[in-house]
Amino acid sequence: MSDNLPACPACSGAHTYEMGALLVCPECGLEWSPSEETADESGSKVIRDAVGNVLADGDTVTVVRTLKVKGSPTGIKAGTKVRNIRLVDGVDGHDIDCKVDGFGAMQLKSSVVKKA
Ligand SMILES: [Zn+2]
Repeated sequence: MSDNLPACPACSGAHTYEMGALLVCPECGLEWSPSEETADESGSKVIRDAVGNVLADGDTVTVVRTLKVKGSPTGIKAGTKVRNIRLVDGVDGHDIDCKVDGFGAMQLKSSVVKKA
């Protein structure tokens, strides 16, 4: 049964509904996957890298594919090491807060990194 859908992780809106495998919040427009992001009913969240390793605050990760960065001709190259990540409830799947050498503070998606 799906009568007890979780509240929106972004705005805590209670009017979430299912759309295929995703949950959708009509209040802020967030779409998220409950199976990937919700570890258990205590609300702790598991964030996994591109190959399924569980990430934690302070981990060092490697970027697995080149990422476009506004204002940079090269972007962040695949293979770039990012140290001391911090897991956040980011918007749009950007769930890693970090500092990238040469770029400064930014948020990345966990799906584009691999635990080093
Ligand atoms: Zn919401």
